[in-house]
Amino acid sequence: MKIVIVGGGAGGLELATYLGNKLGRKGRAEIVLIDQNQTHLWKPLLHEVAAGSLDAEVDSLSYRAHAAAHGFVFKLGRFSSVDREKRCISLAPVTDADGFEVLPQRSEPYDQLVIAIGSGCNDFNTPGVAQFAQFLEGPQQAERFHKQLVNHFIQLNRKLIDEPTRTLSIAIVGGGATGVELSAELFNARHLFALYGLKRVTNEHLRVTLLEAGPRLVPALAEQVSEAVRSELTKLGADIRLNTQVARAEKNAFVTASGETVKADMMLWAAGVKVPDFIADIEGIETNRINQILVRPTLQTTTDDAIYAIGDCAGYELGEGRWVPPRAQSAHQMASLAGRNIVRGLQGKPLKEFKYRDHGSLVSLSQYTAIGVLMGNLGKGQSLNVRGWLARMVYISLYRMHQIALHGWFKASLLVVADKINHIVKPRLKLH
Ligand SMILES: Cc1cc2nc3c(=O)[nH]c(=O)nc-3n(C[C@H](O)[C@H](O)[C@H](O)COP(=O)(O)OP(=O)(O)OC[C@H]3O[C@@H](n4cnc5c(N)ncnc54)[C@H](O)[C@@H]3O)c2cc1C
Repeated sequence: MKIVIVGGGAGGLELATYLGNKLGRKGRAEIVLIDQNQTHLWKPLLHEVAAGSLDAEVDSLSYRAHAAAHGFVFKLGRFSSVDREKRCISLAPVTDADGFEVLPQRSEPYDQLVIAIGSGCNDFNTPGVAQFAQFLEGPQQAERFHKQLVNHFIQLNRKLIDEPTRTLSIAIVGGGATGVELSAELFNARHLFALYGLKRVTNEHLRVTLLEAGPRLVPALAEQVSEAVRSELTKLGADIRLNTQVARAEKNAFVTASGETVKADMMLWAAGVKVPDFIADIEGIETNRINQILVRPTLQTTTDDAIYAIGDCAGYELGEGRWVPPRAQSAHQMASLAGRNIVRGLQGKPLKEFKYRDHGSLVSLSQYTAIGVLMGNLGKGQSLNVRGWLARMVYISLYRMHQIALHGWFKASLLVVADKINHIVKPRLKLH
């Protein structure tokens, strides 16, 4: 039995680790994980990488090393299609930055396939966005944003000698968790750049504009949370524009539907979620309007028992037009159930049904505060608004839970200690 998992993110890597430990190590099945990158970085950390509060090189995990320790095989490759009849997937050639072909086009047979490729941003075909704005979809994009940020700060610090009113303008489209969390991280980065020598740049020289089409920030959370987030960001100095739809992007500017031009040295698009278009072209796979693969309660696809989909790329309807939200906690819960179902299937036992449990949502405003809602353990339908230290601890614990799923309690605890040591011996901001 060969089980192939494509996508080693929040869901896929936890699943590969579980199946590798449970089946691969004992020779009960061959577990193969395929990812387009060689290292894994938990996606909710991307805004911290973009601002420099986190060094991707330090926090990334090597798939190959992890696979060797957990009974599965890692293969580098970019999944491009499935032949359901032959039970085989196609992988596009892998080339490096210089165009050197590392691996040719290949195919990989499977007995069971799990698609866990996550999602990307949805620019809703807004003209100019793909050309002029950046996205935060993976570690490379976050690092590119960070390098540009460092260079802009160095340049501004120099220019302020002769032009004291000069500013650095950063415009972010999308007032969801990514846009909001990155805005706060940018003010924290400004503070830390000053500590490390770029002293002329104050908060007055940093213009962060957050453009949100809807009437409030973080619309997935309760209204009072949105208001608290808006108030905190405004205090930091961010310019929040609600009910502001972006009609097009130009070089160094977003143009709104009302015709206003928002000039920016750096432009980031962080609105909307969409699964890559090639998924909708796979024959015999049903998808929804954002290309998520439709799955049954067992998390098998609606049309093929041999194919599961989990995480952001899976479309699981909760009823009344509501879908399981594209979040790390959903990917984690789906990975757990898919893992148990694959094992049960091999044992000839009936498969379990997925029950989504919303444990709440939190947004972290860098070192300043965290705000959100906790749910689930407080009785039916009850929720608790949290803020400050408690909210921050719960927010951090999400990542710790991911580390525990990958490494177990002991190694995850060592990683906490390693983080504390790094906090002492390394600069608090990535400065290059
Ligand atoms: C900046 C940011 C902040 C976030 N903050 C939060 C938060 O605070 N809380 C929360 O719950 N959620 C948060 N999210 C959402 C969360 O990150 C996702 O819901 C979660 O990562 C989805 O897990 P996944 O396994 O489905 O996909 P991912 O974690 O995105 O992993 C997908 C994997 O598939 C690989 N892949 C993609 N395409 C291919 C291909 N064609 N071939 C091979 N491999 C491929 C990728 O390299 C990646 O490793 C945030 C997202 C972002 C971008």
